[in-house]
Amino acid sequence: MQMYTGGCHCGQIRFEVTADLSRVTACNCSLCQRRGFLWTFVPPDRFALRSGEETLSEYRFNRKVIRHLFCSDCGVESFARGRLADGQEMVAVNARCLDGVDAASLHIVPFDGRSL
Ligand SMILES: [Zn+2]
Repeated sequence: MQMYTGGCHCGQIRFEVTADLSRVTACNCSLCQRRGFLWTFVPPDRFALRSGEETLSEYRFNRKVIRHLFCSDCGVESFARGRLADGQEMVAVNARCLDGVDAASLHIVPFDGRSL
């Protein structure tokens, strides 16, 4: 577990997250496939949005249970909010948006979101 900083491209959205990046999830659903997310999931108490709340736009699709939050200025989605199957809140952080993290070095685990 390590503390990372991250955010969107233009820098208006900034956050801190404590995450275990030993593996990240690549989902094949219609959205993740197009946007190329590499997800790491954390409980809300391990995520702190430091700036940009007012710049976030929300996109929901399909069952509309995940709030895809992207910067309304640069368009980058650095995190999303949702709930796990057991109802627990979680934050999905896009590992591609973390400072100093080389996406090519991550161990990627496929997730079959397309079939859900
Ligand atoms: Zn931005």
